Amino acid sequence: MTNSRDPDNLWPMAREISAGGVVVRHTADGWTMAAIEPQRESAASGAAKKRSQKVLLALPKGLVDPGEKPEQTAIREVREETGIVAVPVAKLGDIKYVYVRSWGDRQRVFKIVSFYLLRYQSGRIDDISSEMRIEVKRAVWIALDEAPRKLAYRGERDMARRAQEYLESHPEA
Ligand code: ATP
Repeated sequence: MTNSRDPDNLWPMAREISAGGVVVRHTADGWTMAAIEPQRESAASGAAKKRSQKVLLALPKGLVDPGEKPEQTAIREVREETGIVAVPVAKLGDIKYVYVRSWGDRQRVFKIVSFYLLRYQSGRIDDISSEMRIEVKRAVWIALDEAPRKLAYRGERDMARRAQEYLESHPEA
């Protein structure tokens, strides 16, 4: 039996594949993690504006380019969005969410983001290009053990927890 449905309608939602990093650095005060505060357009007013002005912390990430491996994307996006050069340690997992594009036809997008645990190698946090500044308000180190409380998105909080678990179970790291 043939399937006569329009193949485009089998998956009506747009899809995006991104990759990002939980970058950790060991300091005298314990493990720290690189987070970004994305720039957000502020069309809101009144109470909504006040709410949207609350600091939103997220993990660095971005779309996987054609021919690029997700792990390479994570390293590249971390460098571009935070100024940090990092090396891969392990894959942490994938998160999935749906959002509605705020531009154009306001399409619903199904998004998968693969996250990797990366280790700081060199660079200065927030040393980013002026083009990137349009997307990233600032990049900061935060204590890794505060990340599950401070990150805005549940999936990313889970990734920070997984990074903590990985480091606890791999003391050699
Ligand atoms: P990318 O960083 O992959 O290039 P982008 O900046 O275009 O992508 P997202 O960061 O995915 O897009 O943001 C698109 C929408 O999804 C925004 O409204 C944002 O608030 C929301 N969003 C971002 N990350 C998450 C998440 N982990 N869980 C749920 N919603 C999220």
